[in-house]
Amino acid sequence: MRCCRVMAENNDPGANQQPRRKTISSPYIHRLQRRHFLLFDVLPILGTAGAFAFLAIHPFGTTEFVLLFAMWLVTGLGVTVGYHRLFTHRTFKAAPWLAGVLAVLGSMAGQGGVVSWVALHRRHHEYSDREGDPHSPNLSGGGLRGTLRGLAHSHFLWMRRHEYPNVVHYAPDLVKDRGLVRIARLYYYWVGLGLLIPTVIGGLVSLSWTGAVSGLLWGGLVRIFVLEHIVWAINSFLHMFGTRRYASRENSHNGGIFALVTLGESWHNNHHAFPESPSFGLAWYRLDPGFWLIKMLEKCGLAWDLRTPSAARMAAKRISGKSDPVGNAA
Ligand SMILES: [Zn+2]
Ligand SMILES: [Zn+2]
Repeated sequence: MRCCRVMAENNDPGANQQPRRKTISSPYIHRLQRRHFLLFDVLPILGTAGAFAFLAIHPFGTTEFVLLFAMWLVTGLGVTVGYHRLFTHRTFKAAPWLAGVLAVLGSMAGQGGVVSWVALHRRHHEYSDREGDPHSPNLSGGGLRGTLRGLAHSHFLWMRRHEYPNVVHYAPDLVKDRGLVRIARLYYYWVGLGLLIPTVIGGLVSLSWTGAVSGLLWGGLVRIFVLEHIVWAINSFLHMFGTRRYASRENSHNGGIFALVTLGESWHNNHHAFPESPSFGLAWYRLDPGFWLIKMLEKCGLAWDLRTPSAARMAAKRISGKSDPVGNAA
């Protein structure tokens, strides 16, 4: 899956002036990208180191565990169900208020505003593992050196500076949605809210300032760090290692043993083969928490028109004679 960056939602002057260009490159945009990289990609690493150092002052207790887990889960679902399966690929339809909630939760993950994220990810699908893919690990040369350089680029370094996908070209449906554009413009505030919530809860539960700081660190920065690396690992490692169940033109792989922790995103080969599918596991026995949430929403009447591919379509793309040693068998 992909993932991320920069928020020309703020007021990208180039997007409206050059609607026919697929990407935009300007010093202004690259400044925003650098700022975003430092704030939301580098700072969580420092915050995670700080969280461990802070254990000398405040222990990791039940509150910290619940804040870390709950904030990870809701923001992670915001990314996979909201950003990815709903807004990028339109794999189902949802009530507008629910779509808004998912966009806000996804924004709290600190992986870019919803419009930018969608545009980048659609470009990833368009150019997967070819020139133009924002984060392929397979375009940095051969040998051990090329492999390591490719992994570093696709996992992390590409976000420092990259061609910005023109949102008018890649996400015209989102740009027309005034409510969603408003949410995207408030992206920095949503990330701030995602840090404020665990801080306040941590302070109130412990009735102490150290509890508030501990809440900020574990429920805020560590949580962002953990979710980011999970998402980035899909861009990097799963475009290089794992198993392939379906024929697809890029080098995507499944990593079934990571299905739970990635909320279903690690069925990445399945996803590239059937990007229109709300289910990434494509079978009940392949764990896919993101799809479980969508099915639950469907039962409540809040999601509909799930575009699950037919058995015949899946059979047509199946790579025959291959076992699926990672995670679940065929
Ligand atoms: Zn996708
Ligand atoms: Zn991919």
